[in-house]
Amino acid sequence: MTTRGQTQQFDKAAFKAAVQKHLVTTYAQTVETADTRSWYLAVGRALAEISTGSLLETEKFVAESNARSVNYLSLEFLIGRLTGNNLISMGLYEDVSGAVEELGLNLSDLLEEERDPALGNGGLGRLAACFMDSLAAQEYPAVGYGLHYEYGLFRQSFENGRQVEAPDAWRGIEGYPWEVLRPELNQTVGLYGRVESYINEDGENCRRWVPALNVEGVAWDLPLIGYDNKSVYPLRLWECRSPAPFNLARFNDGDYVGAQYGQLEAGNVTKVLYPNDNHDQGKALRLMQQYFHCACSVADILRRHFAAGHKIEDFAKLEAIQLNDTHPTIAIPELMRILLDEQNLDWDAAWAICSKTFAYTNHTLLPEALETWSEALISEMLPRHMEIIFEINHRFMSLVEKKWPGNNEIKRKLSIIEEGPQRMVRMANLCVVSTYAVNGVAALHSELVKRDLFPEFHELFPGRLHNVTNGVTPRRWVKYCNPGLSALISEKVGDDWPKKLEKIAGLEKFADDKAFQKRYMAVKKENKQRLANWVEENMGIELDTDAIFDIQIKRLHEYKRQHLNLVHILSLYHRLINEPTFDMHPRVFFFGAKAAPGYALAKDIIFAINKVAEKVNNDPRLGGKLKVVFIPDYRVSLAEILFPAADVSEQISTAGKEASGTGNMKFALNGALTIGTMDGANVEMREEVGDENIFIFGLLVDEVQKLLEEGYDPYRYYHADSLLRASLDLLETDEFTPGKPGQLAAIRHNLLEGGDPYLVLADFADYAKTHEKIDAEYRDQENWARKAILNTALMSKFSSDRSIRDYANNIWNLKPVSKK
Ligand SMILES: *Cc1c(COP(=O)(O)O)cnc(C)c1O
Repeated sequence: MTTRGQTQQFDKAAFKAAVQKHLVTTYAQTVETADTRSWYLAVGRALAEISTGSLLETEKFVAESNARSVNYLSLEFLIGRLTGNNLISMGLYEDVSGAVEELGLNLSDLLEEERDPALGNGGLGRLAACFMDSLAAQEYPAVGYGLHYEYGLFRQSFENGRQVEAPDAWRGIEGYPWEVLRPELNQTVGLYGRVESYINEDGENCRRWVPALNVEGVAWDLPLIGYDNKSVYPLRLWECRSPAPFNLARFNDGDYVGAQYGQLEAGNVTKVLYPNDNHDQGKALRLMQQYFHCACSVADILRRHFAAGHKIEDFAKLEAIQLNDTHPTIAIPELMRILLDEQNLDWDAAWAICSKTFAYTNHTLLPEALETWSEALISEMLPRHMEIIFEINHRFMSLVEKKWPGNNEIKRKLSIIEEGPQRMVRMANLCVVSTYAVNGVAALHSELVKRDLFPEFHELFPGRLHNVTNGVTPRRWVKYCNPGLSALISEKVGDDWPKKLEKIAGLEKFADDKAFQKRYMAVKKENKQRLANWVEENMGIELDTDAIFDIQIKRLHEYKRQHLNLVHILSLYHRLINEPTFDMHPRVFFFGAKAAPGYALAKDIIFAINKVAEKVNNDPRLGGKLKVVFIPDYRVSLAEILFPAADVSEQISTAGKEASGTGNMKFALNGALTIGTMDGANVEMREEVGDENIFIFGLLVDEVQKLLEEGYDPYRYYHADSLLRASLDLLETDEFTPGKPGQLAAIRHNLLEGGDPYLVLADFADYAKTHEKIDAEYRDQENWARKAILNTALMSKFSSDRSIRDYANNIWNLKPVSKK
């Protein structure tokens, strides 16, 4: 069983034997008494065995083909469960389903046993996962490099409506069946210490780093399995371990505590994923994670390069390194250090390689998310890297001086070093200076990167700034998570749409076909029922699938404006109770969102939504028209139930704040209509599906900027709009927190005295009016079905396969390598 895919035979007897062997020998269970979890583990191991063979074959084939590869460096890979998706990629879903049935098992039950590897926070980490899927599906030689966190993103539960965080031990005690240790790839990583000067054999002055501490990087590979092809690439995750029980030198010096302290710290490096989304916390351990990740990854890329017999001079020709945000920026001075101090290249030769190797993706314009590290911290932990950063900046400043002679203001603005009470290193500036390509993640965002974030860099390095609009993989986000819709699509356009999403445009001509509309809406209804069942079983809330399912699922953040959604819900509540003539189609508002543990207002918003939900779900005065459901512990496996069940997708960020969004794309592909601002990829989605098939509202980017410059006064809207006023004032009463008025007042306070930094009040009226339009349009089911079908049909641009082709053609200069 070394081959696979639809073209190969599946040896059912051999597979069953492999599963039973793992059940007994790997997991020490008996066939008679093993529980579902043990069977899932055994099936996972048996499948992983097949893919590990293919992974080694692909590695060998790529190395021998002398092809160029891309190395995708990301601190996060939010891959979600692998077993079901891998079965689809391997073309074995039906076969394995049949095989486990003969073992007396149900495949769906087994798949439910898998815990999500939640090695990411949200969109950025999920994007990395979709990109790896699309690289493998299209056979672009690639390695994903990340960290093997012991604990992924925290598990969320609610206690009295408040978020409670618990550690996420995603591997369980048995380990994760899809990962394989690669001990021959281990790396040693230095930290702290000092820099020495010395004179080499050629009489040249040289510098070298003498670290005070070494830690060990252990490589774990997860298979990235190409859909319907034979290629399997590694997602290589580094785990940090302490190399020896003690730092012997310091131990012998009598520094017993110091010797062990190093060990404690090393053990901590990959312990836990930082739970911040779009927010830089600046903790020393995070810098250590970043460097550990970069040092292991750069060393492994060089190892592959040399093992294939290549010279260092050809490095940039054969390897591209993509930095997913600034989190892996320290890879740049790390490669410079190795080229200068270990490969003995001079600065110009080293820089020529470095500056043709790295490319950088910017994910945000939010100032609080732009990373800076204090010079003092970097100098202590990575003294040689700090020297190199200063040298890069020194040479860059000469360039700026040449372009804008004597202009110190521009120098201050562009410098990699920010002057102040403590000097800070601006990682984004370091990236723009040191990479050959910088890209934003949607057309609007990339324009704003050029216009607002890096205008002078754009002048200085014309052609360096690009756009690559994000996408999502149609394998996980349609074929796997929405089997009903997938069957319907295949019937109409053939079954190769999962790798050629352009094919779904063939659905357009069925948008007015009454019979097709009925079947399309029947699939939607089944998906709504599947979600309703989950909610009933897990939360005890009964839902009516005739209601509009209106869903906002994403990280909790002020800029994403879950509180705008909340204020609108309050306005509906107010109207249902106080306006005798007010009517609305029944609606269920779903939320799913984790708040960063230190983000107080975000947690207040979760609490408020939960309290409002408690009240409205049980208030007989509302006649069942309004329900609110906050799904706890939002993660990929729940997203797979939520996206297919949505009628309405909430994409309501303040214009200019959401770089792209990818949830918006998953919703529309699955036939939800978007209510959204002219922000991120919403703009391009509107272009694709047409203005009639999307509900756009709110201020435009330039209107937002103008309003803020003129001096925005939220009270103006509060006083002018009685519905808005009534809705906000509900937050001060004890309507939702009986006997405890004021428990929800922090949100109202933020929106009024707090100045409403994300313009919730300014956009409220248009938002509410647009929701009335949705209500009216939904009542005409044929009209709605038509629009939903067109959303699915016209979304092919947003396949991550297209994004990856854009990167390959415009940034990486990468060609597929296929072993046919
Ligand atoms: C797609 C996805 C996201 C990103 O959602 P946005 O709405 O683009 O912020 C976050 N988390 C999970 C689990 C996802 O699947």
